[in-house]
Amino acid sequence: MNCVYDMIVIGGGPGGISATVEAKMRGLQSVLLIEKGENHSQTIRKFYKDNKRVDKDYKGQVVELKGSVQFSDGSKESTLDYFDSLLDNGEIDTAFNSEVESVKKVGNSFQVVTTKAGYEAKNVIVAIGKMGKPNKPDYPIPPSIKQLVNFNLDKCSQGEKLLIVGGGNSAAEYALELSKTNTVTLNYRRPTFSRLNDINEEQLYAYDGQELLRLRLGVDIKSLENASGKVRVNFTDGNFTVYDRVVYAIGGTTPVDFLKKCGITLDGAGHPIFDENYQTEVPGLYIGGDIAVNSGGSIAMALNHSYHIIEHILGQR
Ligand SMILES: Cc1cc2nc3c(=O)[nH]c(=O)nc-3n(C[C@H](O)[C@H](O)[C@H](O)COP(=O)(O)OP(=O)(O)OC[C@H]3O[C@@H](n4cnc5c(N)ncnc54)[C@H](O)[C@@H]3O)c2cc1C
Repeated sequence: MNCVYDMIVIGGGPGGISATVEAKMRGLQSVLLIEKGENHSQTIRKFYKDNKRVDKDYKGQVVELKGSVQFSDGSKESTLDYFDSLLDNGEIDTAFNSEVESVKKVGNSFQVVTTKAGYEAKNVIVAIGKMGKPNKPDYPIPPSIKQLVNFNLDKCSQGEKLLIVGGGNSAAEYALELSKTNTVTLNYRRPTFSRLNDINEEQLYAYDGQELLRLRLGVDIKSLENASGKVRVNFTDGNFTVYDRVVYAIGGTTPVDFLKKCGITLDGAGHPIFDENYQTEVPGLYIGGDIAVNSGGSIAMALNHSYHIIEHILGQR
């Protein structure tokens, strides 16, 4: 630990990147971005399908951007290119492939410990998102078929018979895209969708009508079994179907244990406690992006959190 950074940001997603870029643009010089993946934006890389349309006002949540970092509609690829250019042009110090394990305040500064090194900083922003811990079903996944039960599209290959589970835009977009190359069923436990944008909803029903995919709505999954190396899905209506692969797209949860290791206090519902400046109960320790939102969250929201946090840090100097 030979340098005390003005600010360390944990998590190289839209929230983390925009915080470092905003900070540099506004005059904070020694800033470090720590990311556990081998590159930035792991949520976008792993959970967005290729060529996915990326909406600025995601799920109809209209956000007026406040800071210096701009953002507009695009695709998965153009969004990643944009964040690449922000990091390159901002000359941001990065530590990739480094997972932060804990944050501890000692005196007036924070000790940030990663799998590879230790760092010291005056301020820390935790922007680790929620998709490092995707939601899982309540029923057990038999170990022998774990490889065939996934929470993103990394392992899907062309021609497989797939079941996508979920009722949000992620599940819908996975199903629509994969139906071009695979036999796809989308299962949602409720009889109708309530959280989809109009385009996804319209397309799903159109694809279903044209038998490009199958909608299996209003029925839940009871259990999964190994059926000769495939996944037998037992539904609550007594029917079952065997699939090559099942992909759950049912959102993510707050990584409670990690937040506790950073000294962040949580309320009774397990949500982190922070004030209107996104500062936790530990002065100088902030949270932003998806983990500062109980449900939902978007790139534009994460950008605005970063702007407010940097404003507050600069105001304290
Ligand atoms: C399928 C899907 C489609 C979406 N489509 C849109 C859209 O069209 N428009 C939109 O605005 N939003 C969309 N979203 C939501 C958007 O992706 C999130 O709101 C946004 O990524 C949140 O940014 P973030 O920086 O808070 O977290 P994330 O993007 O989740 O980034 C967190 C980063 O922190 C890293 N990390 C985690 N733990 C550690 C650790 N201990 N140490 C170091 N690094 C760590 C992760 O590897 C990750 O790179 C979509 C989400 C999904 C899942």
